[in-house]
Amino acid sequence: MSTVRVYESSDTDPALLQARRVAIVGYGSQGHAHALNLHDSGVDVVVGLRPDSPTRERVEGDGLATATVADAVASADLVSILIPDAGQRRLYETEVAPNLKDGGALLFAHGFNIHYRQIEPRASVDVIMVAPKAPGAMVRREYEAGCGVPGLIAVHQDSTGQARDVALAYADALGCTRAGVIETTFKDETETDLFGEQAVLCGGVSALIRAGFDTLTGAGYAPELAYFECLHELKLIVDLIQSGGLSGMRAEVSDTAEYGDYVGGPKVIGADSRRAMEELLLEIQSGDFADRWIRDGQCGHPEFGRLRDEARGDPLDTVGRDLRARMAWL
Ligand code: NDP
Ligand code: MG
Repeated sequence: MSTVRVYESSDTDPALLQARRVAIVGYGSQGHAHALNLHDSGVDVVVGLRPDSPTRERVEGDGLATATVADAVASADLVSILIPDAGQRRLYETEVAPNLKDGGALLFAHGFNIHYRQIEPRASVDVIMVAPKAPGAMVRREYEAGCGVPGLIAVHQDSTGQARDVALAYADALGCTRAGVIETTFKDETETDLFGEQAVLCGGVSALIRAGFDTLTGAGYAPELAYFECLHELKLIVDLIQSGGLSGMRAEVSDTAEYGDYVGGPKVIGADSRRAMEELLLEIQSGDFADRWIRDGQCGHPEFGRLRDEARGDPLDTVGRDLRARMAWL
């Protein structure tokens, strides 16, 4: 059994953040949620944006202070780097590092750049992670509803002796302690996050949908029917799984579906797929996946661009667009 400790609000000291100014760099998915939740929790927040940012008006309309990234960092005790991972190293070197206070804290919502040594902060700053386990829109929505989403915290570097407590206070201000906060490491968060998105959440699910759709249409069934069975209904099942686990889902579907789950699933995801998952994990642990992704980024993403182009014009998307246009709630 797991011995992981789950932190709640009573385990945190909100005063630790009340004494600090927080610079949120970036106002996208995570950035807007962190900035607004912290602000509503009584924290002094400034949002750092690039000079020509199209987002400045929106941030000011949301009632928050804005500054250039350099000025926001220079004025802050804690700096949250919430721009896309691929741009963080450059931004860190040019705007953040030269302006970061000694004794200040650098916060990430994902461990990639620290774990794979793309960013190597000097020893005089704390380096922490607070990673909500949800997209930013949900982090904000749940906070406004008086709830929260679960979160992870981690400490990479503790120069002040307060790094962990500051991370906990930040997770509390974000609303994450309302749903439980778990302590991990930059290494484990990064490796499990990459594995999850590749093997299951994004890669695995896309390939499963694709293969199911191709099998049905290849056998002559209508693409619309294949779309409903292999893609559209997935959400209904995933909702059941999220609220009740696999057993909760199996209790809700028909007995025929449950029986088919037991006999069919292991044939589809069998020994070959498990071996492929182990290979993915090894590539993540060795740093080979990160090297490939970073090198592609350094030359303007030629491989990523090609893969994106190849994915466009997929028959699944064409059928889906027409069917979704009739679903008023979408
Ligand atoms: P977004 O793509 O939503 O970030 C967009 C924001 O970053 C915009 O405000 C944009 O500025 C700003 N930005 C981009 N490049 C620069 C730059 N060079 N200089 C200054 N600002 C820049 O990022 P996410 O919120 O998706 O990701 C942020 C971090 O959170 C990542 O580390 C990610 O791994 C992590 N994370 C993300 C989750 C998610 O659900 N998205 C979940 C958990 C963690 P402008 O407004 O000017 O265009
Ligand atoms: Mg993730």
